[in-house]
Amino acid sequence: MSTVLQVKEFPMFMDGKWQAAESGEWFDIIYPGNGQTVARVASGHKEDVDKAVAIARRTFESGIWSKQSIEIRAALLLSFAQQIMQNADELAYLEVLSSGGTLRRVRNMDILQIADLLLQTAEFMKSYPYVEYLPIQPYPGPANGQVWREPIGVCAAITPWNFPMILAMWKIVPALAMGNSMVIKPASHTPLSTLKLAELAVRAGIPAGVLNVVTGAGSQVGEALVTHPDVDKIAFTGSTTVGRNIMRQAAGTIKRVTLELGGKSPSILLPDADLRLAIPGSLFGVFLHSGQICESGTRLFVHESQYDQVLAKLAEQAQAIRMGDPFDMETRMGPLVSKQQMETVLNYIEIGQQEGARLVCGGKPVQIPGCEGGYFIPPTIFADVDNQMRIAQEEIFGPVLSVIRYKDVDEAVQKANESIYGLAAGVWTQNINEAYRIARQLRAGTVWINDWHMLRSDAPFGGFKQSGFGRELGKYALDEYSQLKHVHASLVTEEKRRVAWDLLLESPIEKA
Ligand code: NAD
Repeated sequence: MSTVLQVKEFPMFMDGKWQAAESGEWFDIIYPGNGQTVARVASGHKEDVDKAVAIARRTFESGIWSKQSIEIRAALLLSFAQQIMQNADELAYLEVLSSGGTLRRVRNMDILQIADLLLQTAEFMKSYPYVEYLPIQPYPGPANGQVWREPIGVCAAITPWNFPMILAMWKIVPALAMGNSMVIKPASHTPLSTLKLAELAVRAGIPAGVLNVVTGAGSQVGEALVTHPDVDKIAFTGSTTVGRNIMRQAAGTIKRVTLELGGKSPSILLPDADLRLAIPGSLFGVFLHSGQICESGTRLFVHESQYDQVLAKLAEQAQAIRMGDPFDMETRMGPLVSKQQMETVLNYIEIGQQEGARLVCGGKPVQIPGCEGGYFIPPTIFADVDNQMRIAQEEIFGPVLSVIRYKDVDEAVQKANESIYGLAAGVWTQNINEAYRIARQLRAGTVWINDWHMLRSDAPFGGFKQSGFGRELGKYALDEYSQLKHVHASLVTEEKRRVAWDLLLESPIEKA
C-alpha cells in the first residue's frame, strides 16, 4: 500500500455535513512516506470558526445533547465505539497517510485505545457524581444542599500531529460525556482522521452540531477559537511555546484552559535493573513513533559502572529496529511527520555534536526503497551527554536518545528533575521499594516502573511544571469538562428561624 491513490478533497465537517471553507481555499496534505500530496483539505479562517461556534452554541442551548439523559449519552458513546471498529481500516489508512505512523501501531494500538476509552467512559458515567447530595447541617441550613456537575458549554480542542486520533478522542469523549458541544481544530498536517471521526459520531446517532471540525492553520483557526467570546473552554495539546501563547490569549475572555504540552522525560536505569527488560524497554520508550511522542523517555541515566556495556547493547538493538514503509505491517519505525520536522531533528543532531556529545549510531537521513522522498531518520543515540546540554534540555521530538552517566542514584534523580518539563519519568530496577522511593521524588505526571508508554483509559495523564496542567483520561477527564453548581434549597419555613437574615434585616426575628 505504499503508493498512494488519487488526491481526495476533504471539506470541513460541521452541523453533521461536509462544508467547504467560506473562502473556497484548500491546503495540501503530504504523505510523509514519500513527500507526495495525497489530499486537499478546506482551509478555514475566522469566518468558518464563527460559523462552527454558532452551530455548537445553538446545539448546546437546544438541549438536544446537553440535557439528554446520561444513559442515552452513554449508549451513544458505545455506538460511536462500534462505528470506529467497523471503520477501523479507513481510519487507520487516513492516520498513516497523513502522520506517517506505522500501520502496525495504529491498527494494534491507537484504534483499540480510542474504542476502549469510549467503552470505559460509558462505564464511568454510571457512577460519576453528576449530582452529589450534601449532608444536612444546622448552619447555614437546615437545607437540602446539592452539587451539580454541569457541562461547560462550547469546548474547543486544538490538537497536534503526532497522535491525531487519540489526542482528539481524549478531548471529544469526556466533553461529550458531560453534554458539551465541541469545535475541534486538528493539526494542519493530520486532519483526515479527525474529520472522519466527526462523521462517524453522527452516524452513531450523536446529534449533528455536537461535534464540529474546522481545519486550517493554527494562526488562523486556532487563534480565532482561543479568542472567540462564545467558546467556554480550550483543551490544547501541543508545544509549550504555543500553549503559553494560548494561555495568554484565553485570558481575554477568561476561558477555562487545559494544556498538555511538551516533555523531556528522564528514565533512570539502576545498576540492579534486569537488562533483558531495561534495554529493549528503554528503546521502546524513546523510539516508538520515531520519538514523536510527548512522553518519550529521551534522557536515559545510566550508572557509570555499566555505562559502556549498556550503551553497546542499546546501539546494537537500536540498529536492528526495522524501518520502512509505514503501511507495511512488518515496519516498526516509519518516517517523521514532515520535511520541516526532519530538518528540526537533524539540526538538533548537529547541535549535539557541536556541544561535545558522542554520536553512537544513526544521525543521518536514510532512503527507504519504495519510499523515496520520505522523511526517515534512524534511531540516533548520543553518549557522553551532560544534562545541561541543549539536546538534554530541549524537546527534539524525533528519534534521538541522550545517554547520561551518573555516579549515585540521588544525583540521577536530581538531574532527572532538572528540566522545565514534568510529563513522565521512569525507573528500571528489581528493587520495588527503591522504585517507589524514587517515584515519589520524580516531578512528573506519570511514572513508569520497568515499563514505558503504558497509559490507561482509567488513569489520569498530564503534566507537572511546564508540561501543562489539567488531566486527560479516566474519571479525572470528566471533571475537566464540567462546572460545579451548588444548589441550596432551604428547609426552613418559619421566618423567625432565618437567623442569618438578621445580619441585615431587623424585622424577621423581631416580628416573630
Ligand atoms: P504545535 O504547538 O505546533 O501545534 C499544536 C496545535 O496548535 C496544532 O493544531 C496547531 O495548528 C495549533 N496552533 C499553532 N499555533 C497556534 C496558535 N497561535 N494559536 C492556536 N493554535 C495554534 O505542536 P505540534 O508541532 O503539532 O505537536 C508537537 C508538540 O505537541 C510537541 O511539543 C509535543 O510534546 C506536544 N504534545 C504534547 C502531548 C501531551 O499530551 N502533553 C501529546 C502530544 C504532543
